[in-house]
Parts: sequence; C-alpha cells; structure tokens
Amino acid sequence: MELTNLTIQEASELLKSKKISSVELTKATLDRIHNVDSKVKSYVTVTDELALQQAKQADERIAKGENVTPLTGIPFSMKDCISTRNVRTTCSSKILENYVPQYNATVTNKLADAGAVLVGKTNMDEFGMGSSCENSAFFNTHNPWDLNRVPGGSSGGAAASMSASLCNFSIGEDTGGSVRMPAGFCNVTGIKPTYGRVSRYGLISLVSSFDCIGPMTRDAYDCATVLEAIAGHDEKDSTTYQSAVPSYTQNINKPIKGMKLGISKEYFVAGMEAGVESAMQEAIRTYEKLGMEIKEVSLPHTKYGLPVYYLLLFAEASSNLARFDGTRFGLSVSDNAKDVIDIYLQTRHAGFGDEVKRRMMLGAYALSAGYYDAYYLKAQKVRTLLRRDFETALASCDILLAPTCPTTAFKLGEKTNDPLAMYLSDIYVVATNPAGVPALALPAGFSKDMPVGMQLIGKHLDEATLFQVGHAYQQVTDWHKRLPSLCHRR
Ligand code: GLN
Repeated sequence: MELTNLTIQEASELLKSKKISSVELTKATLDRIHNVDSKVKSYVTVTDELALQQAKQADERIAKGENVTPLTGIPFSMKDCISTRNVRTTCSSKILENYVPQYNATVTNKLADAGAVLVGKTNMDEFGMGSSCENSAFFNTHNPWDLNRVPGGSSGGAAASMSASLCNFSIGEDTGGSVRMPAGFCNVTGIKPTYGRVSRYGLISLVSSFDCIGPMTRDAYDCATVLEAIAGHDEKDSTTYQSAVPSYTQNINKPIKGMKLGISKEYFVAGMEAGVESAMQEAIRTYEKLGMEIKEVSLPHTKYGLPVYYLLLFAEASSNLARFDGTRFGLSVSDNAKDVIDIYLQTRHAGFGDEVKRRMMLGAYALSAGYYDAYYLKAQKVRTLLRRDFETALASCDILLAPTCPTTAFKLGEKTNDPLAMYLSDIYVVATNPAGVPALALPAGFSKDMPVGMQLIGKHLDEATLFQVGHAYQQVTDWHKRLPSLCHRR
C-alpha cells in the first residue's frame, strides 16, 4: 500500500484504527516530495517542520479520541495565494517573494482546527493570472502525466501536487477556472463552490467579486468532506452566506435516477478536440444509463463569457493590485528614489511580470473616465445576463454538464507568446464565476493518453447535488483512480 496514493477517506480510516500514524503518513509525503517534486515542481515552499509538528498534534488528538475530524492527520498542500502565518505566501510573484503573513486566512485556520497537516504551498500563475502555471515568476510546473506539458492554471501546482501523490488533498482557488481547468488537465477532482460559500479572508485577491477557494481531491466524496470543513459564514468576510453548511456527504449515495442533466448547445461547437468531445458523449451516455433524463438547454450569452470575464478581471485586478507599491507589503525598490512615486514605479516595474502588467494597464484603461461606461459598466450589465442564462437553464434541469477545456494539456511554451490563445482555453470555465454558480470538475477519460476533464454546473448553494451526481459517476467509472506512471510503485 502506497500511503501517498490514498484518498482522505481511506487514510482517515487507517489513522482512526491506529494502523498508521499521522507522523508516518506525513513523513511518507515529505519524503516523496523531496524525491519526486524536482521533476514536477509543484511546490514553492515545503513546510517540513510545521507539518511534523501538526502531525504529532494530530496523533495526540487521535490517541485521546478527542475532536477527531475526517481531516485530522491528513497531509495537504495549499495554493500560494492563501495566507499562512509565519509561512511565506508569494502568489508566485517577485513582489511577494519574501512576504511572510502575520495572520492566517480563515480557511487556513479552519483546516488547522480540523487537524489537517500543511505540507507546503504550491506554485501558480502570478497572482492567479494564467492557464498554464507558466506565468509563475519562479519556475514552470510540469504535468505529472507528461512532464513536457503544462498542468493547467492558475492552480497548476495544487493540481500537480495532487496528481503526483504529493499530498492527500490540496486547496486551490478559482477566479475563472483555476481549480477546474488544472483539475481536468491533471486527472483530479475539484470544486469551485458558490461565490460566498467559503470565506475569502486572507486570500490575496485577484477579482474580489469572482474569487472562490475550493478543494482538489482524488474523488467527489473527499471533495465534499473538505468543502464541508472550510465552508461557512465568516464575520471577517461580509460576502459569505449566513446560511448553515449542509452535510455534503450525507446524501451523496442517493440515486440520481429521474434527475435532469442539461447539455448546453453553445458548449458543444466546433473547435473541441475529438477525444474531449467523445469523452463528453460517453459521460452523457453513462448518466443516461444511471437513469438521468438528458435535456438540451441554451446559455444564449455564452459567446460574451470570455470578454466579460476578462474585462471585469482586468478592472478589478488593476484596482486590487494597487496595494503592492513598495511601501507596505513585500518588495521595495528605492534605488536613488527621488520621491515616493519613484518607489512605486521602481518596485512595480521590478516586481510584476509581463502578464500582470498587461492586465493592470488594460484594467486602468477600462476604468478611466470616458471609457468606464463603454467597457466596465457594459460588462457588468452583460454579467447579469450571464447569471440569468444559468438561472433559466437550471430552472429546467438539476445540473449542466460541460467539458473543462476544449483540449487536453498543451505543451510547455506552446501558448506563452499568444495571450489570446491562452485566454481561449478558459472558454468553458469563466462564465460560472461572474454568475456565482458552483461547478465540480471530474476526470472523464483520456484523449491521446492525456486526461480529459468534465464539469458539472449547479444552482447557487446546491453543492450537495453536484457531489451526489459526481459521486454517482465515480461509482461506475474508474478514471479518477488512474495515476500517472510517476506514482506507480517502484
Ligand atoms: N485562466 C484564468 C485567468 O487567467 C484563471 C484565473 C483564476 O481562476 N485565478 O484569468
């Protein structure tokens, strides 16, 4: 038995029955990170000492039988845009390369309270801007299924750490597909919850009105377990829902017979890789066999999804990133600076990468007097239409099915010189964020030996149905159980 390949559920059983200890499991994970991650490069920081300390505490909790949760003693990794006290949090940017937060994000606290064990922080596109992890200021992360390919982005490190069995679960963040798209590329399950279901306190903002923290796991059951632990109202984030978090695993085994699965005709158009399309058709047939009724639906404003998403992202990000000015957080460059403006300019010039600069400039332009109405305001109006599209479609069915990306993982360097081609790979994932609806990504097969991802999109706050329908699929398929050759026993 390879400890690092276990699901949370399996590992938790072994811990609770004292067949293994958390220290043992954590050491196996850290050893594997030190042996394998030089190939994958999913971690920016490995927290050996903290992990062993947390593992010891978890073992004590288990020994006393006190306060043991399904996550007690389980090693996890976290995207490097979520604040961790005394552990540097970089957003994979030079501007925060040596930034060490003095406080924890709410999610970090919740996981610590549950007894989970943080083994490290994972690589990402700088500030979450990208779809391949190649915009990290530090290094590229490689796809564990083919090291010459990208893991997807922006939570590429999180997905790769999960896929290469370098943790038992991972925490990602999704502003416009950053959990789902890399989950699809790396054969991992992951959820973007409803906006406001998980606290953003301590998450370094990209787009405050889109950002969602979400788990990445081996299967839908584990994903439900982690979401339950991190979701809920937080007085430090006024955009979180007040409503209680349901038990996502309680009804996960209920049959899905008679439920309605919506297929949006706008999502199945030319340009999809043949192997992705056939995997989607196969998944639809599987659901049909499980007794679901298949319905064609329409999301008529789909073609505006990408422009609306990117315009609003540029605008909000340009405003959010104004705080990195060399006087408060992280890097400060002040060589012969004449005045404070000079410090801002030098710091931002040296600290931000090209993609971040490109987006901030476009955002400042879209928000400037004379253009605000034409771009920002207009995009906000179309955002309402996107939201209504989902509400109308989901009024006639329980759930929608779509691919996570038109292709499988592309080669490293293939799209780095063409930002528009990179943006296009987000076509199926971005519209859910302006709309706020939840979406669960699941492994759905392979195309030319690379994993294919599908997503199930649900109604606001109806994550329970997503998990139920995702779990039903994983009971009759085994795609999610397949591991890259890097993980087979040596
Ligand atoms: N590909 C998206 C972008 O570049 C991903 C953003 C995200 O979800 N953090 O904007």
